[in-house]
Amino acid sequence: VADYKEGAWQNPQILPYGNMSLSPATSALHYGQSVFEGMKAYRDANGDILLFRPLDNFHRLNMSAERMCMPAITADIFLQGLEQLLRLDAAWVPPTSGCALYIRPFMFATDEFIGVRPSSSYRFTVFTCPVGAYYGQPLKVAIEPHYVRSAEGGAGFAKAAGNYGAALLPARQMQERGYHQLIWTDAREHKYVEESGTMNLVFVIDGKLITPPVSTTILAGITRDSVLQVARDLGYEVEERKVAVEELAEAYKAGKLQEAFGTGTAATIAQIATIHFNGEDMDLPAIEGREISNRVATELDKIKTGQVPDRHNWVHRISL
Ligand code: PMP
Repeated sequence: VADYKEGAWQNPQILPYGNMSLSPATSALHYGQSVFEGMKAYRDANGDILLFRPLDNFHRLNMSAERMCMPAITADIFLQGLEQLLRLDAAWVPPTSGCALYIRPFMFATDEFIGVRPSSSYRFTVFTCPVGAYYGQPLKVAIEPHYVRSAEGGAGFAKAAGNYGAALLPARQMQERGYHQLIWTDAREHKYVEESGTMNLVFVIDGKLITPPVSTTILAGITRDSVLQVARDLGYEVEERKVAVEELAEAYKAGKLQEAFGTGTAATIAQIATIHFNGEDMDLPAIEGREISNRVATELDKIKTGQVPDRHNWVHRISL
């Protein structure tokens, strides 16, 4: 925990997990100045703790903070704080493959007032929680025809709490129709694929990985970037470009939509079994036969858990 007051971060400290006490007038609760990150720590065969790309989460948190008119956290507090916390929490980093310690850094406005203006004080907090292997079934997803998550000029590229609050109702409505997740499209025309609930999206068409480019309207996922890099390393062709929903439907009809998956810290790669569009369920080829995503997922897991050389310098090792 650290507090921002009078223009500087102060008093970074590690406290036992417990409740926080807040005034009912705490500005984050009313005006939404609240941003967060999600990351994971793994354990390698020697018992060291491996943090995956923490500097990227640090930079993204500060990018989100800037958009929400909040101060940047310092690298010292973020990285040294994480390292100290993980040493204390070492017993909770599971050694089993597939399990990890989830880490949730977040920052919110703490001034007490009524009135829409930026706060002058903030709290930065990190807590951790062990998470099990991700054994979820392949996803049924549906193209969202009406709601939008993000528009040009908005805050869609930020990991801001309000983005998630606004997405809850459309997601629940989609679940009531029998789909696990929705796929957001662009706000202007509902024509191009953006991303899913908490994942970026990648499609394999005719042997090539195709994914929407990072823009002002999607969250620049760290898993997305890692997956694309590993795919290139393995010799696959990658295209970052706009993907029209119609293109997916046409590729499906032509038998060329071979694989589809979401990328995110939680699942690394979450296979998509079915995409609903225009009243039709497009059922994609069986998961077991998906050579590209299965190879990329295995390789990325090996990098994260120290089983292959860390050729991109992604792993921050904490030796106990
Ligand atoms: N999009 C959204 C909206 C998300 O919340 C997440 C999860 N952070 C992602 C994409 C994937 O990002 P990452 O790979 O960094 O977890």
